[in-house]
Amino acid sequence: MDIISLKNASSHAGKAIKIAGWVFNFRSSGSIYFLQIRDGSGYIQAIVSKDVVSSKIWDLCAKITQETSVILEGEITKHPKKEEYELQVKELEIVQVAEEYPISKKEHGPDFLLDNRHLWLRSKKQWAIQKVRNTVINGIYEFLNNDGFNKIDSPILTPNACEGTTTLFELEYFDLGKAYLSQSGQLYLEAAIYSLGKVFDFGPVFRAEKSKTRRHLTEFWMMDAEMAFYDHEMNMKMQEELIYSIIQKVLKECIQELEILERDIEPLKKIKLPFTRLTHNEAVKKLQKLGSDIKDNEDLGGDDETLLTKDSDSPVFVDKWPAEIKSFYMKRDESDKLALCDDLIAPEGFGEIIGGSQREDDYNTLEKRIKEHKLPAKDFEWYLDLRKYGSVPHSGFGIGLERLVGWMCGTKHIRETIPFPRLITRLKP
Ligand code: ATP
Repeated sequence: MDIISLKNASSHAGKAIKIAGWVFNFRSSGSIYFLQIRDGSGYIQAIVSKDVVSSKIWDLCAKITQETSVILEGEITKHPKKEEYELQVKELEIVQVAEEYPISKKEHGPDFLLDNRHLWLRSKKQWAIQKVRNTVINGIYEFLNNDGFNKIDSPILTPNACEGTTTLFELEYFDLGKAYLSQSGQLYLEAAIYSLGKVFDFGPVFRAEKSKTRRHLTEFWMMDAEMAFYDHEMNMKMQEELIYSIIQKVLKECIQELEILERDIEPLKKIKLPFTRLTHNEAVKKLQKLGSDIKDNEDLGGDDETLLTKDSDSPVFVDKWPAEIKSFYMKRDESDKLALCDDLIAPEGFGEIIGGSQREDDYNTLEKRIKEHKLPAKDFEWYLDLRKYGSVPHSGFGIGLERLVGWMCGTKHIRETIPFPRLITRLKP
């Protein structure tokens, strides 16, 4: 008999089937054992009745502990009252009796759970978060593939910085001196648009910033997209359409997971296109009115981001930032003072999920910026080169996967949205 997936249990109602998984909870009432089974794809209650199974199987049940691995055979039946399916067990095989499991039903502190992340991943909420993460990843791939993007795998070992030199992880690279772990694949994607038009990468990036916030990891997954012949407006439109499509996919495919996470889905359902747009100047004025002490030419802090979206159902774009506080590669508007860039701020206090901009495409201007930012000219020669051979207006953006997943799941601290979080104070397990 083939083993079925629990997510398809309902389609096997009335039939004899086999399942394989783990007992994550159990109780007995004298002549019946109720085993809660998890198989990775879903959950089911398995019922072992003393008067149905052999005495050998009945005796095996007494050995079962939390996380014991089992293979079960029986018939799938519908719960008499609920929209749930159960397994009426006929055969039971124990694969391994689990030792006493450290994570019990009682409350555990975050440090204990993070120390036991290799086990914590099995709990129902963590299962649900990883399922949503997978759906978000698939949603990004689907959207971009349907829109004619080509995936480009940018390097992780790089000779230079992309997002500022203070947040780089450094290592010795044989006889060639220092190498750095990538902060973003953007610069490499810019090279690839001249070959493939619209490209994206999706992989781990590294930031050595000493931020101890609930929104910062030192290793996180970023999707960078880069498009030839896209200006600032087209760039923002692409971003909002991508985010909107992911929300719709999560609402369609992850209802069970969002229920497990007790995520109120009404705010997600209310989101409409187009998203709200504010210039940095408008955002600052609004924040000052709302009581923030933010200055005219300052970056938004985490609290500002929360305050700014308080009265908004949709995410909010903050665009056209003072150029002096933004990166060297961003194109400026006609005033030469504002960068044609945008941050997309998620509602409900989930903060910035995207940073994007139109890129400077003029050779001389970019060369000047590299000097102004005191960047090592030699390392950026290849990047400048791109502005010599058929340079075109182009734009792109980077999505932080964990922030997006945290928002979808309603998880306040993004450390739970990545399987093995890397924080300033945590490198294990
Ligand atoms: P922040 O100001 O929040 O530190 P940033 O401006 O440095 O972010 P970008 O360099 O624009 O961010 O990176 C693009 C996206 O990557 C961000 O919008 C965010 O979603 C995500 N991101 C950036 N830094 C981190 C981090 N340390 N941990 C997790 N996600 C991050």
